[in-house]
Amino acid sequence: MAQLALGLALAWSMAGAAAPPTVMAVKATHVLDVAAEKDRGPAYVIVEGGTIREVSTTAPPGATVIDLSGYTLMPGFIDAHTHVLLQGDATAAEYDEQLLKESLPYRALRATGAMRIALRHGFTTLRDIGNEGAGFADVDLKKAVAAGVIEGPRLFVATKALAPTGAYPLLGFSWELAMPHGVETCDGAEACRRAVRDQISRGADWIKVYADRGYYRQPDGQIRSLPNFTQEELTAIVDQAHRTRRKVAAHSITPTGHAIALAAGVDSIEHGDVLDDATVKRMAERKVFLCPTLTVTDYVAAPRSTTNPIWNELAQAARASFKRALAAGVPIALGTDAGGFPWDQLNQAEEFRRYVALGMTPWQALRSGTASAAVLLGQEGVLGTLAKGARADLVAMREDPLQDITATERVGFVMKDGVVVVSPAAR
Ligand SMILES: [Zn+2]
Repeated sequence: MAQLALGLALAWSMAGAAAPPTVMAVKATHVLDVAAEKDRGPAYVIVEGGTIREVSTTAPPGATVIDLSGYTLMPGFIDAHTHVLLQGDATAAEYDEQLLKESLPYRALRATGAMRIALRHGFTTLRDIGNEGAGFADVDLKKAVAAGVIEGPRLFVATKALAPTGAYPLLGFSWELAMPHGVETCDGAEACRRAVRDQISRGADWIKVYADRGYYRQPDGQIRSLPNFTQEELTAIVDQAHRTRRKVAAHSITPTGHAIALAAGVDSIEHGDVLDDATVKRMAERKVFLCPTLTVTDYVAAPRSTTNPIWNELAQAARASFKRALAAGVPIALGTDAGGFPWDQLNQAEEFRRYVALGMTPWQALRSGTASAAVLLGQEGVLGTLAKGARADLVAMREDPLQDITATERVGFVMKDGVVVVSPAAR
């Protein structure tokens, strides 16, 4: 019965259909209601038309049962900081090569591979914040997933990201050459407003800004950076985005960037390697999310430190900052910066174990990559939850992640929008 059910569901998956026609009952031994931090198993998650109908102790008559006895089932993972159009960025050479030697169609093809990997690792939703010089290709990738053209996580996209002139690669080439940019440059408040309007008109769900760069240690031992935008520019960007009901994510590593970004009213601080007490207090009070991206921080530390030791120091600082933010009650959404590391080398679910190693309970870590990330995305009750009416995005693991958080790196079952993508029977 179970095998037949999985076969049917997989057939659906391969046909690229929008949603299975039947009612499905996904049975598991543990069913994690992550938002409530409650194990509701053994139970069935009842799925109909791509949405969750209920969590029940019985299967409705006639339902197709998917038997995951022995497994732990929970909402699909959300990674709130990725770059599907990037395939590794440990060094400048690696980054430059992609922008200079790969055509946009080729980069989009590689992105489809990245998205397939992410989905098979249990990530049913990505906030993809910045396409690194790939035009508006992320809008097309999002569309292709939604239309069933390709298999991948649902995307929330930021298109080009924004930085002022001279603040973002490609840099360091002959002044005689007109080089491509990994961002859209804008200078002056009005030009920045126009850039926001343009990006939104072409499909941006989010606006991404680079608030700082050029990290260095001051004589007093504090790590600081070069601010990118003026306060006037960044305030204009955030105001313009919010007028159109779009949120703003700010790459900001040190208090130099945090001060300007928070004064402008951004909705999330990305990376936040160096968080001082004033920043943490402000973020907690205003419920500004931290998206820690510790997987990439660890990944780039060694290769980048060969030219600048600050990268090792930032990786150290990021651990202390995470603990400070957690203790102060700053909302934290799981984000990895996948694409900054190659999608096929690391499983982005490693981020979960880093949070637990730094003091989160397993429940808190799981929530950061589901229900909390959904709040950041404005998708509370729709994504990252088993609530009635939520999207039927589910993952299941043979081991219990509450006992061993690294179980999140070994998912054996993935369903997105009610379609089975990975199943134990198919392995
Ligand atoms: Zn990033």
